[in-house]
Amino acid sequence: MKITILTLFPEMFSGFLSNSIIKRAIAKNVVEISIVNIRDYTKQKSNSVDDYVYGGGSGMLMMAQPIVDCYKSITKSKKVSTYYLSPKGKLFSQEMAVELSKLDEIVFLCGHYEGVDERAIEIIGAKSISIGDYVLTGGELPCMIIIDAIARFIKGVLSNEESTLDESFRNYLLEYPQYTRPYEYEGLKVPDILISGDHEKVKKWRLDKSIEITKACRPDLYKKYLENN
Ligand code: SAM
Repeated sequence: MKITILTLFPEMFSGFLSNSIIKRAIAKNVVEISIVNIRDYTKQKSNSVDDYVYGGGSGMLMMAQPIVDCYKSITKSKKVSTYYLSPKGKLFSQEMAVELSKLDEIVFLCGHYEGVDERAIEIIGAKSISIGDYVLTGGELPCMIIIDAIARFIKGVLSNEESTLDESFRNYLLEYPQYTRPYEYEGLKVPDILISGDHEKVKKWRLDKSIEITKACRPDLYKKYLENN
């Protein structure tokens, strides 16, 4: 998958790209990520990329011109699935991560300041996508979160041991509690069922725990589980 990120803060991505699963995915050529600095495309003499908001109000808005020129220069009129990170967008989910992981190419636009001139979003044909009901300073962190979640579903990114098959949100449930060695730690023991060797009982215990946790923490998800099972 080819991913292009349009941002005013390219340096924010250096740690993300050079560690863990994303680093490995890039090294294996399963994912190709390009970071493009929107500022390189501004036609303002001052090199600025933002301006005051029409109608008043505090803060600055990213201007359309640098974004649109940047976008056109990288897509070269080719139609590419494009997403603008925004608190006003459709809420990102594991289901969306699976869907987006099937694309060959994606462009992400990261906003900053008060956001982006609406015309830029319209011209580049971006769909808005939010990571949650809170406002962050910029789209860079949401962009990394979304890429990380997507990458986990791209074939060849995770090893078998890191499979997505048994994780939270599968079948609308959160994951059950997990333990590793030692058997006893600070007086707390691993539940006996997990060392019983009885795979059927372990499976049932895990499902019961998943249901219990989902019901308590995410009644909305539990409702979906009941509707789909
Ligand atoms: N004025 C905007 C509003 O009230 O909706 C918020 C702008 S925010 C300070 C700056 C940028 O951060 C946004 O343009 C967007 O790219 C990003 N951003 C902030 N919160 C986000 C969220 N929950 N999900 C995705 N992107 C977000």
